[in-house]
Amino acid sequence: MTDTKAIVIGSGFGGAVAALRLGQAGVETLVLERGRRWQIEDPTSNATFATFRNPDGRAEWLNSVTKTPGYEGIAIEKSTGVLEIIEKGDYKFLVGCGVGGGSLAYGGILIQPPKELFERVFPAAIDYEEMNSVYFPRVQEVIGSSPIPDDILESEYYLGLKVLEQHALKSGFPYVESTNCGLVNGINRFPMGVDWDIVRDEIAGKKVPSVIAAEFWFGNNSGGKKTLDRNYLKLAEETGAVEIRTHHLVTKVAARSEGGYAVSVDIINDAGEVVDRQTLTCEYLFMAAGVMGTCELLIKAKAKGALPKINDALGQGFGNDGDTYAFRTNLAETTNPHLGGPGAIAVLNYDNPILPCVMMRAPLPRFETDFPKKNVIGTFVFAMTNNRGSFSYNSASDTVELNFENDPKAKEAAKYLAELLSKTNGGEVPPIASQITGHQLGGACMGQVCDDRGRVEGYRNLYVVDGALIPGSSTCVNPALTIAAIAERCLDRILVEDIRS
Ligand SMILES: Cc1cc2nc3c(=O)[nH]c(=O)nc-3n(C[C@H](O)[C@H](O)[C@H](O)COP(=O)(O)OP(=O)(O)OC[C@H]3O[C@@H](n4cnc5c(N)ncnc54)[C@H](O)[C@@H]3O)c2cc1C
Repeated sequence: MTDTKAIVIGSGFGGAVAALRLGQAGVETLVLERGRRWQIEDPTSNATFATFRNPDGRAEWLNSVTKTPGYEGIAIEKSTGVLEIIEKGDYKFLVGCGVGGGSLAYGGILIQPPKELFERVFPAAIDYEEMNSVYFPRVQEVIGSSPIPDDILESEYYLGLKVLEQHALKSGFPYVESTNCGLVNGINRFPMGVDWDIVRDEIAGKKVPSVIAAEFWFGNNSGGKKTLDRNYLKLAEETGAVEIRTHHLVTKVAARSEGGYAVSVDIINDAGEVVDRQTLTCEYLFMAAGVMGTCELLIKAKAKGALPKINDALGQGFGNDGDTYAFRTNLAETTNPHLGGPGAIAVLNYDNPILPCVMMRAPLPRFETDFPKKNVIGTFVFAMTNNRGSFSYNSASDTVELNFENDPKAKEAAKYLAELLSKTNGGEVPPIASQITGHQLGGACMGQVCDDRGRVEGYRNLYVVDGALIPGSSTCVNPALTIAAIAERCLDRILVEDIRS
């Protein structure tokens, strides 16, 4: 006997998909999430989440001084806030915490990778045509995503996005219907997990300015972002088979000699103090604690003999999606770099001579003071790099360490694209930054540690369904849609092939 049939560790993109599909199949499922539930009670004020303009304990995961890039050094209450900052060397990895995981912190960017690049990274068993016709659209539908409407794009809040689009057009990038456009250069308006009616309410003064105010890392107080707690996880709970337990920090996973898995949990309060400890057992265990969480739990379990049969590829294949940050400064136009949301329109530079890459606008509130002339565009640029790092276990300190260096070519590719736009449209390109990402991927990759259904080789009924399963790159687009779509594909097969009623 086990406490429950299935346990899902973590409630981000992979965990939310697993929870919903298990619940719909009537599988009794516990979702263990270390963070809290963020319920927006009053969308007319900044009552739920912290803001960039006024960070407090709700901003960061158990830090008493802020470490958020660009907002470092502010004293805050140590609390179970939304954004975890993990420092590895001089690199910072960002992770969303709470019911909804990364969706609480993300920009709502739900962009599909192109076939040609996808097939370079994913095992041949994953049929792109099936992803394209079934799984990517399924995720978009459940989240309820849609492209930015014209009236919002025309508002002062999205001036910078209009300018970026115009600059790309003048530089010879044509409009393309889809990001899966045969690897040609283009400009694409893609679906966003944003409620544009709420954004209209923000503009009309009926809801607190949040999406339009470039607030997103610490959460959107207006409710303008379609976070997973309001779609996948809500639907999962409505099945009646799924229970989400917050403040449940999983510290250890182990195979049981009698079959199934044991999951050790610290139950914490909002100050991060341990108030109770439990061990929960299940027949089916789904790892969805995000790359850093899943890899740490599995690597420690392998090293300490709790899951000794996981193969030696565990920890390998870690990548950052070639994530860099490029500015173009001293432009002729006003761009309001401190307003509006990120993404919505992608500049696809697939024929970049250094590496294929994709650029998107990324506003930040502090740009109002950093650039008083408001004539800059800050952009994320993601490059198609083969560069990979690895995790390893340090037995002396009982820690999991990451060996990773960003690919210098990713920076070169970003510089090339930014300079290409500036050649036609003016502006200067300061050095490219690349020491921050929320796009960590891999470590328990499909085709290496797991099969193409997320099954961990060597163990029955143990699965990885989050970013750790993705082989180190989501092919120069933001990874959330790919993670969720791959999880959908895994669950479709696991429910038919593995799960006994
Ligand atoms: C600031 C920011 C902005 C981003 N913007 C975008 C975007 O616009 N579009 C996009 O595609 N991607 C974006 N990303 C990346 C995207 O959020 C991640 O790729 C995605 O969330 C990863 O999904 P996941 O299922 O692997 O895990 P996550 O979504 O990270 O979820 C993991 C969950 O597990 C929980 N957890 C971790 N460890 C434990 C433990 N030991 N016990 C219990 N629970 C645990 C965490 O609290 C979290 O809720 C962004 C990331 C960040 C940080």
